[in-house]
Amino acid sequence: MKQRYSYCEFCKADVLYDVIEQQSDINICGKTINYMEKIARCRYCHHEIFVMHLMDENIACTNRLLQEKQGKIYVVASYLLQHDPKISALVLQKALYYCQGLFYAFHHTFLFENDAQAWVHGPVYKEIYHAFKQQEKQFFQTEPSLNLEEKEVVDAILRYICCYRGETLQQMTHLEQPWLQTRKELPRNTKTDRIIKKDKIAKFFETIKQRYAMKQPCDIRLYAQDFMNKIHGS
Ligand SMILES: [Zn+2]
Repeated sequence: MKQRYSYCEFCKADVLYDVIEQQSDINICGKTINYMEKIARCRYCHHEIFVMHLMDENIACTNRLLQEKQGKIYVVASYLLQHDPKISALVLQKALYYCQGLFYAFHHTFLFENDAQAWVHGPVYKEIYHAFKQQEKQFFQTEPSLNLEEKEVVDAILRYICCYRGETLQQMTHLEQPWLQTRKELPRNTKTDRIIKKDKIAKFFETIKQRYAMKQPCDIRLYAQDFMNKIHGS
């Protein structure tokens, strides 16, 4: 077994230490996280001592719990923001919407539980809208953990959707069925909190996947490019 030594400022020497776990609370992004904090105690004087890798483990643990508490949508939003820090609120919303739809098309399950609302400027996940507006910085403190399948989709959206301006993406969602069918008779500038039903998103993106014969998530570029050619050509 690896011997554990670290510096004890009370003993003024490198000492053996023991690791104990204790219930702790920490406040991150306005949420209280309860977790088992790992603490090192000097074996000789029993004072608490600092050990770098335990601090890293504690941070990783609280980040994981925070993500569980906030939900996957925050993880996806944090990932998008970390990879494209200049992303605007409008682009972020469209990116989340396309992540959700495209992930469903490929994996027959949704990336996150949250529902988008059919706002005037396109689909909006209001939790993220408010978080982005109010606590922009804290929001991406967490280290986003996505699995390979999720990364593949989110990376494709970063590359082929987030490269367009928010207004252009708004035009795109405004011509697509989920948003149109949800707003129905509503005049263009009328505010609403109507939910874009998930089955509408599922059906629409499955159709898109078929129409463009997408084999992998990065094939979303075929759809995005075709769309841009249409609007710029008309
Ligand atoms: Zn000591």
